[in-house]
Amino acid sequence: MARTVIVGGGIGGLAAALAVTRRGHRAVVLERAVTFAEIGAGIQLAPNGLHALDRLGLGDAVRARAVHIDELRFMDGVSGAHVASLPLTGVYRRRFGNPYVVVHRGELYGLLLDACRRSAAIELRAGARATGYRQDASGASVLLDGGEQVAGDAVIGADGIRSAIRRQLVGDGEPRVAGITVFRAVIPMERVPEELRWNAVTWWAGPGRHFVHYAIAGGRYLNLAPSVENGVTESFAGVPVDRERVRGAFAALDTTARRLLALGEDWKSWSLVDRDPVDRWTDGRVTLLGDAAHPMLHYAAQGACQALEDAVVLGDLLDEDADTIPDRFEKYNAERRERTARITHTARASTRLWHPAGAEAKARNEMLSALSGTALHDQVAWLHGAREFGTAGARR
Ligand SMILES: Cc1cc2nc3c(=O)[nH]c(=O)nc-3n(C[C@H](O)[C@H](O)[C@H](O)COP(=O)(O)OP(=O)(O)OC[C@H]3O[C@@H](n4cnc5c(N)ncnc54)[C@H](O)[C@@H]3O)c2cc1C
Repeated sequence: MARTVIVGGGIGGLAAALAVTRRGHRAVVLERAVTFAEIGAGIQLAPNGLHALDRLGLGDAVRARAVHIDELRFMDGVSGAHVASLPLTGVYRRRFGNPYVVVHRGELYGLLLDACRRSAAIELRAGARATGYRQDASGASVLLDGGEQVAGDAVIGADGIRSAIRRQLVGDGEPRVAGITVFRAVIPMERVPEELRWNAVTWWAGPGRHFVHYAIAGGRYLNLAPSVENGVTESFAGVPVDRERVRGAFAALDTTARRLLALGEDWKSWSLVDRDPVDRWTDGRVTLLGDAAHPMLHYAAQGACQALEDAVVLGDLLDEDADTIPDRFEKYNAERRERTARITHTARASTRLWHPAGAEAKARNEMLSALSGTALHDQVAWLHGAREFGTAGARR
């Protein structure tokens, strides 16, 4: 029975463990943190992410806990005018075969973790920080910072945007700082006035900035995520920030948007980072998955969905034969690079839609408001509607 060593116990690493063990492998997941846990608020899952979870046996459990969103609502953040809504009910669900949901990150992670714990083929090791890998014709091993080597037939680096495995395999340095700061706060729904509650992921688009909000945790909380292009050059994550600074950055937005922002407390800030897509993230018996392979701005709300898709495609390609691993990893990489690169570029380009001012914003509003529900569905079909997650799906 082949043994796969997975570096990183995030959403991607746990999904990979489930996927490879469904194909007869044993898996050990090495996580540098002292416990297996995920922090953070809500995570949007489009139908493609749920299809991947269905394939991992977790779709029903996620759908049962998630908020099923009715629309993606696009507002002119300066005038407060409703510009367009992409409906996510009836036709959308039938066409794409799953709903569009928001689930609490901790809940999604807990389901993946429980499934891993239930599997006799998966070993979970916390407090294990990888520094690199070694391989020869018959196997591959992960080096830990205490000097230990964890040996197996294959290595999957699912260790996130600053992956140690990627550093050795791709060697493309630090991530790109996008010059954008995102602020996040979560507020109990009972503090949100009735007239400001609706079941949508809502964008308020303004010059050089926008504000997104949606319900999480079964509708008990509202997640606020405004972001601004401020030319920030440093990378930072989860840094507390004064509420006045957040309000000041979005002072030009319409009254309703500002009322919602004013409800936020205990704000934290992140500078956004990603990487240019690369064609190759596989080296013999070693490959990458999730943010380690193709980190993207969260503007397409697809990073976790893509990690789940990776896991499914990789699992589908494997069999119990350890000798075929290099070949299967090559195929996985080839299947996934085009779709994930397209999404990375789409996420970057989204600021061109959300951040214009003046005449450009007016033209954008006219263009979006002229699109029917079906036309809007056509726009996202390649992304949300994918059920096969390889090259053919990327081109559709
Ligand atoms: C603000 C924000 C909002 C987002 N919203 C969405 C959304 O709505 N929908 C969506 O699909 N995606 C979203 N994403 C993206 C999503 O969160 C990520 O793409 C996803 O979590 C990546 O999972 P991963 O397992 O590949 O990496 P990570 O979650 O980064 O996990 C990597 C794991 O590896 C561990 N690790 C790191 N280095 C080592 C090492 N050397 N040795 C051992 N372990 C190591 C880490 O501790 C971590 O547990 C969002 C991201 C951000 C920042």
